[in-house]
Amino acid sequence: MIPADLVVANLAEIATLDRGPIPRTGRALSELGRIPDGALAVRAGRVVWVGPRRRLGGSVRLLPGGHRIDGAGGVLVPGFVDAHTHAVFAGDRAFELPLKIAGAQYSEIARAGGGLFATVRATRRASDRELLVAAQARLRRMAAYGTTSVEVKSGYALDHDGELRLLRLLPRLARRSGVGIVPTYLGAHAVPPEFARRPDAYVDRIVRRTLPEVAREGLARFCDVFCEPGFFTAPQSERILRAAATLGLGTKIHADEFVLSGGARLAARLGVRSADHLLATSARDRTLLARAGVTAVLLPLTAFAAAPRRASPGREMVDAGVPVALGTDCSPNSWVESMPLVLAHAVHGGRLTPAEALSAATVNAAHASGLASAGRLRPGLPADFAIFDVPSTDHLGYRFDAIPTGVYRQGKSISPP
Ligand code: ZN
Repeated sequence: MIPADLVVANLAEIATLDRGPIPRTGRALSELGRIPDGALAVRAGRVVWVGPRRRLGGSVRLLPGGHRIDGAGGVLVPGFVDAHTHAVFAGDRAFELPLKIAGAQYSEIARAGGGLFATVRATRRASDRELLVAAQARLRRMAAYGTTSVEVKSGYALDHDGELRLLRLLPRLARRSGVGIVPTYLGAHAVPPEFARRPDAYVDRIVRRTLPEVAREGLARFCDVFCEPGFFTAPQSERILRAAATLGLGTKIHADEFVLSGGARLAARLGVRSADHLLATSARDRTLLARAGVTAVLLPLTAFAAAPRRASPGREMVDAGVPVALGTDCSPNSWVESMPLVLAHAVHGGRLTPAEALSAATVNAAHASGLASAGRLRPGLPADFAIFDVPSTDHLGYRFDAIPTGVYRQGKSISPP
């Protein structure tokens, strides 16, 4: 008998996501490892047993003082991994929305005091405490929607000390929120005003000064670059990503969000861990990404929030054999905290099936974030899971606003009671 300190039973089904290659592509994206009428047992934060409920009694012994959770006929899935966020920032940009929906150009919004640099000004001014309080509230809401791990990028300071400060806040943010954080250095989010006419000097600063310090202090797992006209060119992006890889960091790229700018091609050539956004990719680029095994992180609500609205190319990516993952892209530009909402948009707009979207939001998002033990449920792995009051996993992606009844990370509840 396997001793356990937590048992979950009375579930319509469990999706373990524990079958198939990582990352998933093609048909394997639909293989959820479903266990009808399943049960799960946990000890000391790790899964110790998962299987059909009829075998629970003969396999698992609940230790004295242990807890039994009634799944109430719902479904249990691995906690979502949000593979792309800019969750540490100060202020908001609600005021610019009327301009955006009226069709204002980015330059007009910037002249009205909005845009990315408005957030940079607010973030530079904010104290550590202000940034932590705001980000903690965001991550707790993400947890309430079923997210147990989240990738968080720096990128709203855009100077050496400020970027390091944002990254140094992340371990504290993880402890306070209960959500696991994968830190990413995104000093190349935009060229800061101080380097307005000297973008190469800013790239120099990143490569020679900030990146080595980020690596030395172990502040980030990944380095990311915003490769897009008006931000960083493909050669500048390549220089930064190569320097990061040499220092032992993983690499990611914001690629081809607005126009085809060579970002996906660069991603394939460098073999980065993920290429993100990809709204403007060509069929040829999708083939290159598939061949290189680069995971496409799709951000369907950013596409939806853009003017004009667009759909994330989910079906096209899956059909081309690209591994797809999902993220909220939570930022002041598209403020999204709910992964169930992201799944629904990936299905209704990006034309993934609910099963594909669930794989993209768990096992593949974990892969895109460098988390080898997240996004799946099997004995030995952390007990990160969410319980939803729905009759089957197909209701995730079908319903727009599913809210979990319980969310657990390493066997402990992290959602509000
Ligand atoms: Zn982003």
